[in-house]
Amino acid sequence: MKTVHKVASLSIGVNIFLLVFKLTMAFFSGSVSLLADAIHSSTDVISSIVLLIGIRISGRKSRQFPFGLYKVENLISLGIAFLIFLAGYEIIREVFFENRGMLLTRPVAAIATAVTAMLITFFYSFYVIKKGRQENSPAIIADGKHIRIDAVASLIVAIGLTGRLLHIHAEKIATLFVAAFILKSGWDILKESLRVLLDASIDLKTLEQLREIITSHPAITDIREIIGRNSGSFTFIEGNLVVKTKDFARAHQIIEEITEEVRRQISHIDRIVLHYEPGIKSTFLIAAMLSDGTRWLVSEHFGEAPYIGWIEIHLEENRILRREVSTNPYTDIEKGKGIKVAEHLASRGVDLVLTRESFQGKGPEYVFTSQNIKVLKISEEFINTDLILRIYQEKTGRELLKP
Ligand SMILES: [Zn+2]
Repeated sequence: MKTVHKVASLSIGVNIFLLVFKLTMAFFSGSVSLLADAIHSSTDVISSIVLLIGIRISGRKSRQFPFGLYKVENLISLGIAFLIFLAGYEIIREVFFENRGMLLTRPVAAIATAVTAMLITFFYSFYVIKKGRQENSPAIIADGKHIRIDAVASLIVAIGLTGRLLHIHAEKIATLFVAAFILKSGWDILKESLRVLLDASIDLKTLEQLREIITSHPAITDIREIIGRNSGSFTFIEGNLVVKTKDFARAHQIIEEITEEVRRQISHIDRIVLHYEPGIKSTFLIAAMLSDGTRWLVSEHFGEAPYIGWIEIHLEENRILRREVSTNPYTDIEKGKGIKVAEHLASRGVDLVLTRESFQGKGPEYVFTSQNIKVLKISEEFINTDLILRIYQEKTGRELLKP
């Protein structure tokens, strides 16, 4: 049996027990407020049965409901919100307006009953809310909050009875505080279930996490759109990404990799639909590892070179946009410098890497090949404008304007 089913079944049992217990003790002690509390427990029995049925339905998927019936959970939460409001109304009516027709013969027994019921529901509510959070079930969480309200209701009964016994009438003031608390609880559940029913966005934190996972993939150059919505315990995600390849098989593989990573890091996802489009680039980026940054001396050791030289060319205007030298951030690491540097270049969207070292079969070659990045082995020691002009023409068939 699934945990949510177990919790919902247990709630039915607890509520039936409370109903029988309160009802018996109400007649035994002659307490009208205990009787009112028992009548409320009878509605709790019904609501927990509805909860169990609803959770069972929400787990189904069929041809008529291909997205699942998860939202039944949110409908149940909505119903529970109204039951909480009703419980609040009952408490207020009981304290302010009830005429006490029954004769309270055994006040101590009535107080003991109310306190026992309060303790049971109070501790049980924590268990239910905890399980609901673990299973990401909005209906179970709402049920737990409802049970906590029931504990408060029993507390009010105990306070009222004690007050009468001691001839202090404090229960009216206590009730006003409690009513405010109940309104807030009911409102929170109502708001949250309506939000989900109306397809509100998933929370910002998860959305941010999603963006991070996607952009950390080196083949993604842009996120056109990423949206998500909740449905019961589950999340649905949709997005449109710009991938740095024109190869459909490769693009598909990139999307698969991202989907897998998202599923690994974010739980309770039902479906992820990611569309992709090839990135249309306006610039051509050339990079080379340098041993001398001022003279643009190309290093013979790819991963260990202290500098990286970058040349960015505007593809339509055929002119050099920038020439920059940055330091290699991976010179200090022990192993796998070459791969790290290659990934670094790839993440910057490099199109062509100039090198004097041959990568044949080494780590960097795998990185570049998998990202569709061209590598050109050159014999020249220095990179100058003439060399760039020649290479650019060879690689793109375009003539670069002389700066
Ligand atoms: Zn209740």
